[in-house]
Amino acid sequence: MPMDEVLASALMQRQEQGRLRRRRNVESEQAVELQVNGQPLINFSSNDYLGLAENEELRLALAEAAGRWGLGSGASHLVCGHSQEHHLLEQELADFVGREKALLFSTGYMANMGCVQALVGRDDAVFEDKLNHASLLDGALLSRAKRQRYAHLNYEQLNHRLSKSEAKRKLVLTDSVFSMDGDIAELNLLSRCAKEHDAWLMVDDAHGFAVLGQQGQGCTEHFKLDTQQVPIYMATLGKALGGFGAFVAGSEALIDYLCQFARPYIYTTALPPALAAANRVALRLVKEQGWRREKLNNNIAYFKQQSAVAGLVLMPSDTAIQPLLIGEDKQLMALAAQIEKRGFLVGAIRPPTVPEGTARLRITLSAAHSLQHIDALVAAIVEGRSEVQASYVKEFGLG
Ligand SMILES: *Cc1c(COP(=O)(O)O)cnc(C)c1O
Repeated sequence: MPMDEVLASALMQRQEQGRLRRRRNVESEQAVELQVNGQPLINFSSNDYLGLAENEELRLALAEAAGRWGLGSGASHLVCGHSQEHHLLEQELADFVGREKALLFSTGYMANMGCVQALVGRDDAVFEDKLNHASLLDGALLSRAKRQRYAHLNYEQLNHRLSKSEAKRKLVLTDSVFSMDGDIAELNLLSRCAKEHDAWLMVDDAHGFAVLGQQGQGCTEHFKLDTQQVPIYMATLGKALGGFGAFVAGSEALIDYLCQFARPYIYTTALPPALAAANRVALRLVKEQGWRREKLNNNIAYFKQQSAVAGLVLMPSDTAIQPLLIGEDKQLMALAAQIEKRGFLVGAIRPPTVPEGTARLRITLSAAHSLQHIDALVAAIVEGRSEVQASYVKEFGLG
């Protein structure tokens, strides 16, 4: 069969499952008020938790840095693409999270792939939470290490697997805040468990960095864990920081090692230096503007409270990621469409991103939302849900 036919039939199958994903062309800047297909939408689906992506100071910082540094970095870090801005950003990130050194990656996906691939190989084993981000799972695949997944947050099972493992190096990987569930790994228990078995612990703090902890230093501040307890700390700059890129932080030995052995670090063009410069300013805002975290936390609490009042049963989460479990794909998509018709954009997450039968709305909150936005969203979900239920009754005659 010609290639295009093979591919078209795979696409057709996806469509028949009701799982074809589509992209929207956003016509406005990334903010709470989006313009999509000429329609204004209040955005409850981004990871811009602190409302920094459209910040005026960051815009100016980026423009100014572009004036000085131009667009591209021109080469990989180890050739001649590593600028003073990259260097300073790495130092500032390491300082902020209280680690000796940090290494900047172009994306979080690459940071995870690179770190896992560099740290373990054929004779080693990787232990992962079932709900870890795809990039951690893919990193383990790339490493060729033996892969073991434990049930979500089930550290007893992990403990058991670790005790049976005869691998040379043992690497435990977890998200801090789980991206589709919003719940948080119990890192104090996990770090103890890893230590008992001489395993190395790597934490992906993509959704915790800049939001968790009083200072926004992330999950390690939240749980008060030091470098010994979480030796490999990874976070991204494209979420709460409002920028782009990612980093791994840890001991000098770890970072020097990654710089030599992490292939997705070595064989790729460095992030544009102007972006590194703008990320530095974003990091300063994260440090200086604690009110953004306060406002975010107030918004999260308010959303949970108003949802409860309205009879919406959310999944257990105290973070900016607030999922509402729907179950069936079709019902989820119908509900998401109803909500969108009412002027709100929320994530509609289906398998294979989440397990079968757990399709869900993924509502994300930001410091940039007002209480009125939240009230209106809750009303839209409630109305949308009644509308969907009414149409199901009509279609199937179910009560
Ligand atoms: C978003 C995300 C990543 C990937 O980061 P990018 O910079 O977007 O590539 C990795 N891990 C988790 C948990 C994430 O949510």
